[in-house]
Amino acid sequence: MSKTNCVIIGASHAGVSLAMQLRREGWSHEIVLISDDVQLPYHRPPLSKDFLNSRKDLDQIRLRPEKAFEDNNIELRLGNKVTAVDIVSKTLVLNGDEKFQYGKLAFCVGSKVKKIPQSEQFANVFYLRNAADAMRIQSSFSGKKRAVIVGAGYIGLEVSAVLRKKGIEVTVIDIAERILERVTSPYLSQYMRTIHEEHGVRFMLQTGVSHFDGDKRAEFVVCDNGERLACDIVIIGIGITPNISVAKKSGLNVETGIIVNERCQASEEDIYAAGDCTEHYNCFYDRVITLESVQNANDQARCAASNIAGKEQSYESIPWFWSDQYDMKIQMVGLQNSEDDVVVRGDLTSPNKNGLSLFYMKESRIVAADCVNRPKEFASAKQLIQSRMKLDASKIRDESIDPFEFKDHAL
Ligand SMILES: Cc1cc2nc3c(=O)[nH]c(=O)nc-3n(C[C@H](O)[C@H](O)[C@H](O)COP(=O)(O)OP(=O)(O)OC[C@H]3O[C@@H](n4cnc5c(N)ncnc54)[C@H](O)[C@@H]3O)c2cc1C
Repeated sequence: MSKTNCVIIGASHAGVSLAMQLRREGWSHEIVLISDDVQLPYHRPPLSKDFLNSRKDLDQIRLRPEKAFEDNNIELRLGNKVTAVDIVSKTLVLNGDEKFQYGKLAFCVGSKVKKIPQSEQFANVFYLRNAADAMRIQSSFSGKKRAVIVGAGYIGLEVSAVLRKKGIEVTVIDIAERILERVTSPYLSQYMRTIHEEHGVRFMLQTGVSHFDGDKRAEFVVCDNGERLACDIVIIGIGITPNISVAKKSGLNVETGIIVNERCQASEEDIYAAGDCTEHYNCFYDRVITLESVQNANDQARCAASNIAGKEQSYESIPWFWSDQYDMKIQMVGLQNSEDDVVVRGDLTSPNKNGLSLFYMKESRIVAADCVNRPKEFASAKQLIQSRMKLDASKIRDESIDPFEFKDHAL
């Protein structure tokens, strides 16, 4: 007899949201949530912020208390890896041998970090993706004086901010011409660079890592440009790739991520996917994208849950993301690249606690915004992107106008 259960692979932001939403949608059958992580699910963003800084422990960053899984009758199978899926017999294989039947299946398998060859042979070279990584990094801080961070993306910069608070010297290296090059405009890159430099971070751009010098521990990071950087600790954050191997082997359509339609359904009827592992179409930007964000993981998971439960729902969200560095909260909404104008609201030249906002406009409509310590402007930008309203840029620039009144200046 065929199974009526729903099996979810991956118990992080997407997997947990999907399981909880499925119950809210009235799904009465079994829900099994499988994770190769041994920890009760936790929020990932604090791993490079408050958790790394020891301001919060693991129990303070749980996604849900253990009781919530019991109360919702969600079977959590932690420390179990799905090694194969047979989409014909609707069976998955756990840890290489245990077989498990599914009725509906959801891939919420996230992504994995890109690695530098040979880096893992050194005890003081780290990557940061899960709680175990963050705990290893934390326990290595004691007595450390010099850190090299490889990668000037959000993770590298957040970790740099934590290390500077601990008094550790930080050099950040990146092959790109500017920090945050992959995710934002030159304006925000320069603004954030100034903030980090004011906190004592040194940047070396347009050079990558040639190799590490040392025996069991890396003593020097040797750069492509020949420079040797002495180090006690190295943390690498050079990006991620979606976890696609199991889906690909099973025969599902996969490119950079697992391809899903607007219902978050993969290329097989009873299989869905949500979060970092998907490749999907975004209707606001008319392009196919992969995203690394909690917003996308939660929103896609809720959409997939509705469809699994038999409702018709389409995923239509504007991407947003945040980052915390020192006393700055950076909030980004929308996707850049198509803009023809950038409106600066605030002081771009001398960063301070008042922050600033950058509104990326196309044909007088806001298509994206970066807001630093400006939650109201972020909230307003979200609404205005959604509304696709044409606006007077001079009014957005004018700090005497409340961000929620921008809409009163429609063109
Ligand atoms: C340090 C750090 C800081 C971040 N900060 C922010 C931030 O400030 N804001 C923001 O929006 N986003 C942030 N992100 C990104 C955000 O955490 C991810 O976008 C989000 O976790 C994606 O959720 P997910 O459920 O799709 O995937 P993941 O969180 O990657 O979870 C996937 C889970 O599936 C498990 N899994 C994979 N394969 C298998 C298998 N075969 N069998 C069983 N289990 C499997 C994995 O071990 C993992 O637990 C950060 C990420 C990191 C690492």
